[in-house]
Amino acid sequence: MAKCTICGSDVFETVYEGHIRIGKFGNFSEKPLKVSRCCNCMAQSLPSIIGDHATFYESEEYRREVDEGSDATNYFRQHDGEQMKHFAVVGTSMFRDRVVADIGCGAGSFLDYIRGTCKTAIGVEPALHYRKSLVERGYTAYPYTSDALREHQNMVDIAVSFSVIEHIQYPLEFLREIYALVKPGGKVVVSTPNAEDILLDFIPEAYAPFFYRKAHLWYFNAQALENLLRTAGFQELRILPFHRFGFGNFITWVRDKRPAGDSHFDSISRTMDAVWKSELERTLRCDYLYAIAEKGK
Ligand SMILES: [Zn+2]
Repeated sequence: MAKCTICGSDVFETVYEGHIRIGKFGNFSEKPLKVSRCCNCMAQSLPSIIGDHATFYESEEYRREVDEGSDATNYFRQHDGEQMKHFAVVGTSMFRDRVVADIGCGAGSFLDYIRGTCKTAIGVEPALHYRKSLVERGYTAYPYTSDALREHQNMVDIAVSFSVIEHIQYPLEFLREIYALVKPGGKVVVSTPNAEDILLDFIPEAYAPFFYRKAHLWYFNAQALENLLRTAGFQELRILPFHRFGFGNFITWVRDKRPAGDSHFDSISRTMDAVWKSELERTLRCDYLYAIAEKGK
């Protein structure tokens, strides 16, 4: 029987069996698929339906599927706004005068925002069309962390990787390479959707086929994310829960079975939104998780 590639356990339970999302909302897989949870490390995994995921991200197919195209301008339009959420959770001060690497940086929205304060900004991005743009804008960029290691092993103060780990076929190896990149006493910041998103309990029939998706091979709750980072060697770990979407999105899902993003209901005040978000974050039922950890000295 197959073993968990994170912890080696061979005990799994099925958490979902059904159609999954392909790209944007409304497109589903032809066949039902099974999501399994490792009973030891709690990580959930979905079998790949496209074979080698690295090739998928090197190509333009993935970006077409999520309707972004391969143009950096489209990437910025879709992702610049997200960077404010990262800073709201992890702050800005840790980046000042540091060597920062963004692993899976896309066209480089995050790098653009920190390049004015950090000492050096390094991009790691498998897609050639984004890497070209990064180099044109003055960044040092590598396709993979293993390439960056040749010049920067044990030299990076902070490695960040936002919404990437869930796409990676072998997340433990991915984090071990990041561990090798970071200098002793350096930090890693990893973020990913939360596998205990409250909507999975409230409307599983409608939400699970949207939540589980072709591009995401892994789904982590706080415990699973912590287990993964500790297995990769990181210490001093902190989970920072974050709920991205407001109460209006929740109500729209329950009522209409579709996402509403950041839109607000007229009748629901921002105060209600704030209470809703903070309660989900306190109980770890929020839709997103950050983890900050250190490499021992
Ligand atoms: Zn496991």
